[in-house]
Amino acid sequence: MKAILVIMDGLGGRPTDLGGATCLERAAKPYLDELARQGALGLMDPIAPGIRPGSDTAHLSIFGYDPLKVYTGRGAFEVLGLGLEVRGGDVCFRANFATVERQGGKLVVVDRRAGRLAEGHAFEQALNEISLRDLGVELIFRASTEHRGAVVLRGETLSSAITDTDPHEVGKEVLVCEPLEASEGARRTAAAVNALTRRAHEVLESHPVNARRRAQGQLAANALLLRGAAVMPHLQPLTEDYGIRGACVAGGALYKGVARLAGLEVLAVPGATGDLKTDLRAKAKAALSALARVEFVFVHVKGADNAAHDRNAQSKREFIERVDREFFGELLAGLPPGVHLCVSGDHTTPPAVGEHTADPVPVLFWGPSIRADPARTFGERAAAQGGLGRFSGRLVPQLLGYSDLGPKFGA
Ligand SMILES: [Zn+2]
Repeated sequence: MKAILVIMDGLGGRPTDLGGATCLERAAKPYLDELARQGALGLMDPIAPGIRPGSDTAHLSIFGYDPLKVYTGRGAFEVLGLGLEVRGGDVCFRANFATVERQGGKLVVVDRRAGRLAEGHAFEQALNEISLRDLGVELIFRASTEHRGAVVLRGETLSSAITDTDPHEVGKEVLVCEPLEASEGARRTAAAVNALTRRAHEVLESHPVNARRRAQGQLAANALLLRGAAVMPHLQPLTEDYGIRGACVAGGALYKGVARLAGLEVLAVPGATGDLKTDLRAKAKAALSALARVEFVFVHVKGADNAAHDRNAQSKREFIERVDREFFGELLAGLPPGVHLCVSGDHTTPPAVGEHTADPVPVLFWGPSIRADPARTFGERAAAQGGLGRFSGRLVPQLLGYSDLGPKFGA
């Protein structure tokens, strides 16, 4: 038997979102309601009751890892998600292209996002040519969306116990990175970060793309601001634990990163954008074709969370309707027998709040092993009456368990 996990990011909501109902409850979603009629519902606390999860920690927990033990900071997971071959022990940072101005010996921030730069990739090669070998450190830089990017420092015994260089405020000086502990690793990592700040400024200041930006009256992207140092944790891939092959269909970098950590092959799906415009039929087709060669497929759909962060309840409801019609319509039409499905969210994001909240998330399990419960619709309050009860995280181990995949614990 095989299994598909579909996570609709930020799926859960509150009755205050749409005048007495949640977006999921109010949405017209015939496919999901039919799955609920045939399957069983429950409520999941993504990490534990009362913990307000980030998307990264929630996904670790959903995959069966204990985020309270393995989570080392968002930076490490985002860097993974950019497709970099990050190794255990690497120190990862979130980076911003910024505009700075020299004032004496200081670099003062003029714009933390370099005018919301759209051409970060043009600087990638020049930044990757910066050498930190005099400090025993290898540098990898990757541009992401807009002004964002990531930095990985690799070397013997580096440490993430260091401070940010991003002052988080315009008019402030780019901060000197300081070690936060007395170790040689922290001292050397901080020295490498400070050398990177200086050398990146030199390289960017004289870069032809910045010459062109200045000529066009745009802000130069002449500095890198680093924050959120995090060591990449060593995680045991679940594909090894379960002896299975797995694949990931996602648009957002963070989710691909967690999937790669868990040992899943991250598929390139044209049109999977990680936002409201994503090609949901393409994602369903990619999941179906992956299912022909692997036992477990993880699908991540981001849009509901984007709409909820924008406090737009109608948009969240409409996106859920589109996922039902386009993703589940396509998926269920081509689904072979013997597949278990789990549909849930990674946390609750009520549009009325505009942020992640600690409320539990509705879960739907469907497939030949599932004992159907009386639920007739997929929603938060229906899930509270569901046969699966209430549990914390670990959707993937449960789903693989229903599919008879995975080892036995004990004799
Ligand atoms: Zn999320």
